Amino acid sequence: MDENERMEMHIKQAEERGCRECGFVKDFYYEAGIQRMSQEHADGIIHFDMYMAKIQCGNCNAVYDELFEVIEVKGEDDEPDSESE
Ligand SMILES: [Zn+2]
Repeated sequence: MDENERMEMHIKQAEERGCRECGFVKDFYYEAGIQRMSQEHADGIIHFDMYMAKIQCGNCNAVYDELFEVIEVKGEDDEPDSESE
């Protein structure tokens, strides 16, 4: 699963859950993004990808940030994925 697929999965789940204030799913807007975060440790810098979305409900006007998942990223360079069917 690449990061786009992972994000799509989270968005789909968020849409099904709807607004966390009122549960409304119809007028449900979001702006999704992956935020890279770095933390320094004794043995080097660790990078994280934070999968999150800003959500705005058209029913109750709630606006909030939803953090879906935080994933540790190993190194900066992309290792070749074995894309199996
Ligand atoms: Zn709402």
